[in-house]
Amino acid sequence: KEPTDINKLADEYLRLAYHGLRAKDKSFNATLETNFDESIGKINVIPQDMGRVILNLITNAFYATAERKKASENEDYKPTVSVTTKKLKNTVEIAVKDNGTGIPKSVVEKIFQPFFTTKPTGQGTGLGLSMSYDIIKTHGGELNVDTKEDEGTTFTIQLITNQNK
Ligand code: ADP
Ligand code: MG
Repeated sequence: KEPTDINKLADEYLRLAYHGLRAKDKSFNATLETNFDESIGKINVIPQDMGRVILNLITNAFYATAERKKASENEDYKPTVSVTTKKLKNTVEIAVKDNGTGIPKSVVEKIFQPFFTTKPTGQGTGLGLSMSYDIIKTHGGELNVDTKEDEGTTFTIQLITNQNK
């Protein structure tokens, strides 16, 4: 682990995900929003691992908005993906929110299982969330999901910050 600027990391991976997906398929055109708490400072994480988690959550969010757009007859639908960081007393929260398809109740129970995917063959391995969950647990943190069908999904990472500070 090393002291890491989480805002900078999130910003880098957000752009990486966006440009990577757009290069593949122009239908990934969600508006990006960021809301970074500048008071966070550096926190101790394994940067590559945390980056991978953020990249996976953001990639999933973009897919969910692209899916909803495809299914939507509503011309006014504005796909949006936002990343918010927040410093609380002894924790830092990183939230990735989308206004995509949402996840049905029967599905949400399975999303952290290895190899579970609803994506067509070749588009998803079903490993992103199970890997993300393991990485966050290894950091002593939590990864939670809040979702509503046809409204969207928010994944929230909670990390314990240095208690001596
Ligand atoms: P993959 O992306 O390869 O399918 P993941 O482990 O990242 O694997 O996600 C597993 C499944 O969880 C996805 O196939 C999808 O059904 C669901 N999912 C994850 N994130 C979202 C999201 N933001 N909105 C809707 N569904 C999601
Ligand atoms: Mg994924």
